[in-house]
Amino acid sequence: MPVPSLSVCVFCGSRSGLSRAYVAEARALGALIAERGWRLVYGAGDIGIMGEVARASLTAGADVFGVIPTHLMQAEQGKRNIGTLVVTETMHERKKVMFTNSDVVVVLPGGAGTLDEFFEVLTWRQIGLHEKPIYLLDVDGFWQPLITLVDHVIARGFADPSLRGFFQSVASVAELDMKLKQHDR
Ligand code: AMP
Repeated sequence: MPVPSLSVCVFCGSRSGLSRAYVAEARALGALIAERGWRLVYGAGDIGIMGEVARASLTAGADVFGVIPTHLMQAEQGKRNIGTLVVTETMHERKKVMFTNSDVVVVLPGGAGTLDEFFEVLTWRQIGLHEKPIYLLDVDGFWQPLITLVDHVIARGFADPSLRGFFQSVASVAELDMKLKQHDR
């Protein structure tokens, strides 16, 4: 595999959610990553929209780099037929390995795990540990309550207004494509 011009870390749900739009956008993102010759970096599971992104990327020929802790190999159906599979001891290590092997972060709809992953990289950014772009893929307005919460935290004086500038929301994979192209080497 040639060195990818962009490695895209995708954080997303291990469930599919209640709207087909989540699955559709996950597949569209997976296909886009392949079409552009980028690399997918993700949690290595084969379930939920996480599995959808990976299957779409693999089917369309992308290089896929997955990272999963040993104890989730069974529950999240760790995917072995990918370019690289890294099995970690801990969840923390998983996030770190995913992040250090990526140029940008994209967050799709998801649950508590996805929120944890988003806030981890956001807080790393807040304390100056990195400058990697973070995009929320706001499928059907899914992330609006989160954005409102961040605005509220800033308005009540518990975070600097700069926090809001450390991530961007995009409404569709097409819009995300335009943003990601700017980071392509
Ligand atoms: P969820 O959004 O809850 O479906 O979880 C999405 C992904 O995040 C799943 O692969 C979870 O295993 C993962 N996850 C949950 N908690 C953590 C954590 N503390 N650190 C890293 N990954 C996590």
